[in-house]
Amino acid sequence: MLELAKEQIAMGQTAPDKAHALRLLADRLVADGLVAEGYLQGLQDREAQGSTFLGQGIAIPHGTPQTRDLVYTTGVRLLQFPEGVDWGDGQIVYLAIGIAARSDEHLRLLQLLTRALGETDLAEALRRAGSAEALLKLLQGAPQALALDAQLIALNLPAEDFDELAWRGARLLQRANCVDSGFAAVLQQAEPLPLGEGLWWLHSERQVRQPGLAFVTPAQPVRYRDQPLTGLFCLASLGAAHQALLERLCEVLIEGRGQMLYQATSSRAVLEVLGGEAPADWPSARILLANAHGLHARPAKVLAQLAKRFEGDIRVRVVESGQPGVSVKSLSKLLSLGARRGQELELVAEPAIAADALPALLAAIEQGLGEEVEALPLVPETPAQPTVEKAKAPAAGSRVQGVGAAPGIACGPAHVVTERTYDYPLRGESYDQERHKLTQAVATVSADLQVLVQRSDAAIGEIFVTHQEMLADPALTDDVEQRLAQGESAAAAWVAVIESAASQQEALHDALLAERAADLRDVGRRVLAQLCGVQTQSEPDQPYVLVMSEVGPSDVARLDPARVAGIVTAQGGATAHSAIVARALGIPAVVGAGASVLLVENGTPLLLDGQRGVVNVAPPADELQRALAERDLREQRLQAAWANRFDPAVTRDGHAIEVFANIGESSGIAKVVEQGAEGVGLLRTELIFMAHSQAPDVATQEAEYRRVLDGLDGRPLVVRTLDVGGDKPLPYWPIAAEENPFLGVRGVRLTLQRPQVMEDQLRALLRAADQRPLRIMFPMVGQMHEWREARAMVERLRMEIPVADLQVGIMVEVPSAALLAPQLAREVDFFSIGTNDLTQYTLAIDRGHPSLSVQADGLHPAVLSLIDMTVRAAHAHGKWVGVCGELAADPQAVAVLLGLEVDELSVASRSVAEVKALVRQADSRTARALAREALQQDSAAAVRALVERY
Ligand code: PEP
Ligand code: MG
Repeated sequence: MLELAKEQIAMGQTAPDKAHALRLLADRLVADGLVAEGYLQGLQDREAQGSTFLGQGIAIPHGTPQTRDLVYTTGVRLLQFPEGVDWGDGQIVYLAIGIAARSDEHLRLLQLLTRALGETDLAEALRRAGSAEALLKLLQGAPQALALDAQLIALNLPAEDFDELAWRGARLLQRANCVDSGFAAVLQQAEPLPLGEGLWWLHSERQVRQPGLAFVTPAQPVRYRDQPLTGLFCLASLGAAHQALLERLCEVLIEGRGQMLYQATSSRAVLEVLGGEAPADWPSARILLANAHGLHARPAKVLAQLAKRFEGDIRVRVVESGQPGVSVKSLSKLLSLGARRGQELELVAEPAIAADALPALLAAIEQGLGEEVEALPLVPETPAQPTVEKAKAPAAGSRVQGVGAAPGIACGPAHVVTERTYDYPLRGESYDQERHKLTQAVATVSADLQVLVQRSDAAIGEIFVTHQEMLADPALTDDVEQRLAQGESAAAAWVAVIESAASQQEALHDALLAERAADLRDVGRRVLAQLCGVQTQSEPDQPYVLVMSEVGPSDVARLDPARVAGIVTAQGGATAHSAIVARALGIPAVVGAGASVLLVENGTPLLLDGQRGVVNVAPPADELQRALAERDLREQRLQAAWANRFDPAVTRDGHAIEVFANIGESSGIAKVVEQGAEGVGLLRTELIFMAHSQAPDVATQEAEYRRVLDGLDGRPLVVRTLDVGGDKPLPYWPIAAEENPFLGVRGVRLTLQRPQVMEDQLRALLRAADQRPLRIMFPMVGQMHEWREARAMVERLRMEIPVADLQVGIMVEVPSAALLAPQLAREVDFFSIGTNDLTQYTLAIDRGHPSLSVQADGLHPAVLSLIDMTVRAAHAHGKWVGVCGELAADPQAVAVLLGLEVDELSVASRSVAEVKALVRQADSRTARALAREALQQDSAAAVRALVERY
């Protein structure tokens, strides 16, 4: 990620011409290890294609695609030339920013610089800057754009006087994060300025975070200082950001169009007058951007120059960003869009010029704006969605193959739940009526949630408590009320506010906040259904099989296991979170069954086998009988297993294996021993970290680990050090976005980069251990040096905090670790195989992929071979091996893993008794023969078929 820092800046450089300046930059990039020798050629070639002068005395030299391979590390180096360097065409550069980047990362830099480029007189200030700090401040500290959008406009407020109106304006600014909470008081002390036509202006620079303008109007006539008060502008002032807006406002007033503001009935109308948004009726056109590196400086310059040929306003926005448009004529504004290849642009132009301007601009964009472009693929580069229209409903008596996600046999009528759309009026009947409707709908949904809170266990109940809190959020209610006051219907106001809040959370690019956005939409939909009088599809009376496209974990958590006999989804894979929740609730589930299952008629009898991943549609009576008999048998087996859960897991021929439990939170320990586990084989400590708003300190962690060890009462505890990063960042650890998070900085790679966090965690673990058996393992180890660095830290701390019974090992979940097992086995105390990740990395299938994860089966012979290699290497050195991925609890896999001679299986607590019983039924010699044959198969399906035959 490109960021600016003072260490990157060299002040007071001189160069007689551009060629020398480029050489100086190239030398600096090479000396700092960012690029290899030869990059200078790239800088020169790039300038030959077109100047990298940006404006305001700044140039951004960078290489060409041909020199990209010479880049070792992405970064920038800045040279200040106080005497200036002629960059061609009389353009003088005082600051050259040399970029080393392999792809379009420099778009980020352009975004950073656009604030500076919007400034006036920056060139002179850059020339005169006396220190790197001062220069950096100039680049970063330029005034920000004025915030002015629908959120900041509230019309027809029930305000009684000027003060109340000013207070409402200040609140809007506060909610938009423009000002601190003291701004309202500050504004009361400011001197109001009459603008004419009853419009007033108030502003302050104190307590301002970013510049913003709010506009509020009173519902009933109000007078102030013996003059009418029709509307009030409240400005949170910072620098000159409001200059352009003020000029437009003056024009509006001089032209006598003030009533268009205070008589406006929608915030959009106000924005149109003030020029914040293009009028809705201006012609528009959309186009996909195909330039390989997005809208970077060169194509943006071409676009801006072309737009300047037309006299009138033309704006452009990136559709998916949800941000308002910017002027196409401003290079800096265009760069601030950060538009990437594949994103859709929307151009909007004044009616007078639209017929000429839009086709010309579209054609220029299509032709690449001066660059060669490769056409975008016809099929969008997004995961395939099941095409419901094209699929055919499976015929009666047919079998649909999916993925077994939660074991068990279930039957019942199909209850197909599909996403639905809602129709509602945009304008409401009256403020009071709409408000009443909304209050009722929110109260009904909140009461439903309360039932769910009471019905669910603590962890699942928390999801619904969060939903209740979302419904009660005063910020949401305030925003909705403002819209109702402007005449919107309850449904329209509700949808707009929920959507805007959810999009804002998503825009923060934080995985956890994105999940919150999904929750917000979820709860929002429930209120909308109430408002539209749409009953959620009524559930069949008898226990049913739920059929959905995809179920989120919160959907599953919402289900009542007494009513939902089974789950079938069109998408998803066995290690998806929803599958894990289904297993935890004990509801048989088949996932990834394909789009056709969504076309099954409601009420059609379905029989599903969550073990084999098969769904039978309207099965013949005899097949149903057989399956139900099997289910009863399984039920009896489970009961017998439960009764013997405290007995050891020993095969018929006397071979013992340990069966442990996987837990995520220290509170989970209570169930572990009760369910028959002989220890904890995987404590996923990231859940402990995620439960805190900042990294828990040593004492807090120690207390958590102690609680687990106390609960185990002398049984072993295998702890995995923090496994975050990649797709599951901690909210308090900003991690740069990565293109392939699963192949990025995660697990031990991340903690080794943050040794203090790792050290705190290890310290807490060692302190908690006392005399008890503690096993520590590191996640995602793929290289010898990672293991050695992590182990060295444990050894150093161990000198300080002696522990009687400690073993240190690694998780084997990256294929390289399994392939390196002979070398690693010399040094580790144990291995624990994480089959979830090992399968995804071996088969190159994202474990959460909507359609492919169906094939990510841990019984694939390629995965089994890696397990086999790991076990052989470990045993050759007298070390033990556990399996802690989901495969360990798969009844079809238990005998195979036994046959591969693993020493321990660690599974979800509720599977412990069943896995122990399966071990007791097995014979180790037969299991070994089975495993050898399994290794010879050519697919996971063949292995499963083989297991069935044994
Ligand atoms: C695994 O990858 O198998 C594993 C146990 O770790 P997690 O599922 O937490 O990534
Ligand atoms: Mg893993």
